[in-house]
Amino acid sequence: MHYLLMVFLLIAATGWSNDAFTGKSTVIILPSPAGQVSAPDKNLSVVMHPLDRSKGIVIVPVDYYASAGDYNLTWNTPGRKVPLPLSIKTVSYPAETLSVDPSKVTPPPEALERIAQEQAEAMSIYNTFTPIRYWDKPFIRPLESNITSEYGSARTYNGTLKSYHGGVDFRARTPLSILAANDGIVVLAKERYYAGGTVIIDHGEGLYSCYFHLSRFDVNVGDQVKQGQSIGLTGATGRITGPHLHFGIMAHAHQTDPLYLIEQINMLFKQESQGQLATR
Ligand SMILES: [Zn+2]
Repeated sequence: MHYLLMVFLLIAATGWSNDAFTGKSTVIILPSPAGQVSAPDKNLSVVMHPLDRSKGIVIVPVDYYASAGDYNLTWNTPGRKVPLPLSIKTVSYPAETLSVDPSKVTPPPEALERIAQEQAEAMSIYNTFTPIRYWDKPFIRPLESNITSEYGSARTYNGTLKSYHGGVDFRARTPLSILAANDGIVVLAKERYYAGGTVIIDHGEGLYSCYFHLSRFDVNVGDQVKQGQSIGLTGATGRITGPHLHFGIMAHAHQTDPLYLIEQINMLFKQESQGQLATR
């Protein structure tokens, strides 16, 4: 009886199946802030709903290259296992061709060690789950400017290197102040080979925001930052075609569409739209 009640609550809260999209994260609301959701590649912690502390949320990242289809996640909460169906749909992202400095496509041998070290350092950060939430307000965009390249574009660099765009680019022809998307702790602030001047903010609970190609740093590692605080100036450092800000979000160590995730998290703050969110 109790189990059935939980299932009914869950159906009321989430609908039978949650729609998800390749390269994006889905936020699912759960009837209580407990337990973990087991996804195909990892267990995801259920954390507190930011507005209603009796409820939980889980952020489910879907890989850019995931296959479309129906998946069965499980919500494991003390004494119970509740099925959580997820229907993944493929997004057809646009294609882009870019011309960059050849050394940023075929790096010189002396740069390879540095690149490998920087990638390992970043993955170690993204794989760290800080069990604290540093923010209590909706997220903001880091720059009020036009978007010059959306998240997810299938990219070809200099006619050879194929990859996809892991963040969103904002126009910044002249140096502009970059605002922290939300409260957090600065966990990286340095020059990197591809990303140029880079700041990474830990927002807690597996969420990180990333800012690339900076020309100046206004923060240091270990700084506590507030939403809207300037963390540096835009620039044209690293692998770029021109000056801009690259903004990304990592969720549970997955690259994810940053503006889509911000939109989903911010909807949690709107009481009247919670039902809509849960069934989209
Ligand atoms: Zn970019």
